[in-house]
Amino acid sequence: MKFYYFDNAATTRLDNDVLKEMLPYSNVIYGNASSSYKLGKNSKHAIEHSRQKVANILGAKPSEIYFTSGGTESDNTALKGIAHANRIRGNHIITSSIEHPAILESAKELEKEGFRITYLPVNNLGVINLEQLENAITSSTILISIMFANNEIGTIQPIKEIGRIAKKYDIPFHTDAVQAIGNLRINVDEFGIDALSMSAHKFYGPKGIGALYVRKTVDFDRFMSGGHQERNMRAGTENIAGIVGLGTAIDLAYKNIDAHNKKIKYLRDYFLTNITREFPDLKINGNMEYRLPGNANISFRNVQGSKLLKALDDASICVSAGSACSAGLTKLSHVLEAIGMPEEYSHNSLRVTIGKNNTKEEVDFLIYSLRRILKS
Ligand SMILES: *Cc1c(COP(=O)(O)O)cnc(C)c1O
Repeated sequence: MKFYYFDNAATTRLDNDVLKEMLPYSNVIYGNASSSYKLGKNSKHAIEHSRQKVANILGAKPSEIYFTSGGTESDNTALKGIAHANRIRGNHIITSSIEHPAILESAKELEKEGFRITYLPVNNLGVINLEQLENAITSSTILISIMFANNEIGTIQPIKEIGRIAKKYDIPFHTDAVQAIGNLRINVDEFGIDALSMSAHKFYGPKGIGALYVRKTVDFDRFMSGGHQERNMRAGTENIAGIVGLGTAIDLAYKNIDAHNKKIKYLRDYFLTNITREFPDLKINGNMEYRLPGNANISFRNVQGSKLLKALDDASICVSAGSACSAGLTKLSHVLEAIGMPEEYSHNSLRVTIGKNNTKEEVDFLIYSLRRILKS
């Protein structure tokens, strides 16, 4: 069955070339990387090869890369791990109101432990205010965590400026870059980033594998207790096929990044231009200037989002309302709420995220289907 897949912010299809690299690490080179014989050493070698690739992309050292089970674990480890290890220095953390639940829920748990969290608001374009950030800093602030790019509205935050402020006050700066990796060039030194989360399935790699970068100078407590894997910082037998997949996928993504971005931005803009022509009172959420190239988030006036989604699904079109995490719930997305979306547009938001496998014909079909559904 043919699916028209426009939900690349939720997940992406594993690239066939990535899968090919991964396969031998399940049933041919299957040794435990902690074993001392050759079969184990081959696994270990594959892990370190991937670690080097991730480090190269970020401009980091391999010893600063930790493999995790995905974006959620990386976010949890960064937030809780850095908070716990730095508890003696203070109990204040600054984040934003539009973070992914992996950050927001971790922050809530830390609040229960006695940490104080500042949730910075965003303007109606989804961008934090740097002055507000600087004003929120106190002598007990031990961590700033602001996402690189938002998963719902694609907004890119002023990361370099945030990094500069964090450095000025000597506060570690973590960024959830799960949506940004593969779409934006990120050098951790250039951006002043001290910790960064990524997840392979957002850039055509496998699900269930991610990485966390933590700068050498930043202390963090480990999240998983057990064996000595990942230099004692993340216990558990390594997901070697997954790690190979992540390394291959990140390499591939950055090898083709310019052509990739140009293509998906073209298709995104083509979609927005044509859909706006069809529905002139449609609202585009977020800002068009600092935005992920494949992200479109739109709201139709007085259209019931759940019904629209169902009708699109009947046409085998995969798009999302708000974000995958809030899909199915009738609760208004916390991101759209934070940008102050007006009532008559609430519950009617559609997130269309273009990926490298989409074609112009598919976008035409999406536009045609929206016209057919909404004008009937
Ligand atoms: C998808 C996503 C996550 C969670 O990553 P998983 O690998 O699915 O756990 C975290 N943050 C953002 C911004 C995301 O888009």
